[in-house]
Amino acid sequence: MNHILASALFLIVSDSCFSQSSWTGNTSPTYPALIEHLQKLDKAHKELSMYNMGSSDYGLPIYLFVMNGGKDSTRTFSKAQTGTTILINNAIHPGEPDGINACLIWLDQWIAQGKPLETKDGKKLPLIAFIPAYNVGGMMNRSSTSRANQNGPEEYGFRGSTRNFDLNRDFIKMDSKNAFTFAKIFHSLDPDVFIDNHVSNGADYQYTLTYIASMKERMSPEMNELTYGKCIPYLTSNVKQQGWDLFPYVELKGETPAQGIHAFNDLPRYAMGFASLFHSISFTVETHMLKPFPQRVQATLAFMEGIISFTANNALEIEEIRSASKSWAQNLTHFAYNYQLSEKADSISFKGYEHSFPVHPITGLKELTYNRTQAYERMIPWFKTYVPKDSVVVPKYYVVGGQESDVIDRLKANHVLFETLTSDSFDTLHVSSVKSYKSPSQPYEGHFKLGQIEVGESAKIISLKPGDILIPSRQDAALFIHATLQPMAEDSYLSWNFFDSYLQQKEYFSNYVFKDQIADILDENRPLKEEYELRKATDEKFRNSEWDQLYFIYCRSPYFEQTFMRLPVYQKF
Ligand SMILES: [Zn+2]
Repeated sequence: MNHILASALFLIVSDSCFSQSSWTGNTSPTYPALIEHLQKLDKAHKELSMYNMGSSDYGLPIYLFVMNGGKDSTRTFSKAQTGTTILINNAIHPGEPDGINACLIWLDQWIAQGKPLETKDGKKLPLIAFIPAYNVGGMMNRSSTSRANQNGPEEYGFRGSTRNFDLNRDFIKMDSKNAFTFAKIFHSLDPDVFIDNHVSNGADYQYTLTYIASMKERMSPEMNELTYGKCIPYLTSNVKQQGWDLFPYVELKGETPAQGIHAFNDLPRYAMGFASLFHSISFTVETHMLKPFPQRVQATLAFMEGIISFTANNALEIEEIRSASKSWAQNLTHFAYNYQLSEKADSISFKGYEHSFPVHPITGLKELTYNRTQAYERMIPWFKTYVPKDSVVVPKYYVVGGQESDVIDRLKANHVLFETLTSDSFDTLHVSSVKSYKSPSQPYEGHFKLGQIEVGESAKIISLKPGDILIPSRQDAALFIHATLQPMAEDSYLSWNFFDSYLQQKEYFSNYVFKDQIADILDENRPLKEEYELRKATDEKFRNSEWDQLYFIYCRSPYFEQTFMRLPVYQKF
């Protein structure tokens, strides 16, 4: 055997070994190795395709890998839109790469089984698409140390993106190019099921596999019943047959599980919360950081098998319920927000470890310790109900000023339908004026996000200009529209600082000139004069401050700018 032939044979053998086994160990591929491997599979199998879906902030593309698609991209995306589709997102936090390996193992097994287009139950395989690694910049920033408490793999990427964003907070504000590429992927597929793969932080307990389901109160009643009444019981029993306990994400109410766990409020800023706005059945998979990586990968794979099986077995019902949910959202009369966890507790059987607070030899302080030799199973409180503290009447349509190109770009990226005005006109619209808000002293995800927003509404005749847009509430993107344009909603564009420029007064007055004008203003406005005199009589500080008195009159005079604190988003009822 000559040397060249021997080397070639060695390459073939080592390559096949690589694809069969290297995803089950304590390593996870680099981004270039991952993409190179998937490109090879794309070339070798007509049932598999990989698409470059757009850029990331890092500069390298974000890909979408599709199993069981169509013959070309047009047919693949039209099959996804009309058929039953699962979208899996990996490595939004690249320090948590379990989903990458799980998808690679699933692919290897599927190829080894002869690429069956039916499930084990004889049901049609859904279209399965996965984003190999979403946070490309984080993937390229590898180390063995950024997950201080995590048990493998040997090397992994970093949580922050190349611009140091947590991309799992970026689905509404869309600061990253990644988020725009994600919106393109998401709306091109319109997935029926969405899975975001992660690894947990937090308490120690026996489970390897936990899940977060979308908050039930934000869903349509039909989707709530399908997710909680049917899908979760199915998954729990399916992964149990595969040898895994499936448990809700251990979000602690207090310091330890003994004080109870609570449901997660998946706000629209998160991947799964975003997917829920479009009525996908959404889950975040959270494997437990202290379990070895190969075990976590197998658990993630079991969840993937379970969700594929559920989707295949219930394809028609899922399609019908998504369609009913879209109608439900289109016909909403009220939009609820400001969800707070209810103190009403259920209970759930939990497999934990006993804990204690021994004195630490170095710090000298009593510190929480879980004892793995003392496993227990007992009931713990489970807070799983949220209550919306506020709600508003849904308008027939919203009007957004055409100058708000950042907002309009994000609406377009999310397939929001609207009409663009081509001429000047007047309309009586509900105007929102910000009365008060709080801004934090430190930034959160690149923003000084506004909180505790209070808004006043009034009807006014508004002059509209060419370029302003009219957005009807009756459309498939209804929940996304309300979540972003209702000013007091948790993830509104107002809260994410898109309208900060409207919160600053542009014109003032000079005391020495304005003081000569107030007599005329008060003479022409009797109610104002009465209000002013009353205030002067009852408020000592006011009585002694020239500025307070002049500003009081100025704010209520025709000289005051009408647009101060007024948002460029109007509502028509
Ligand atoms: Zn994560």
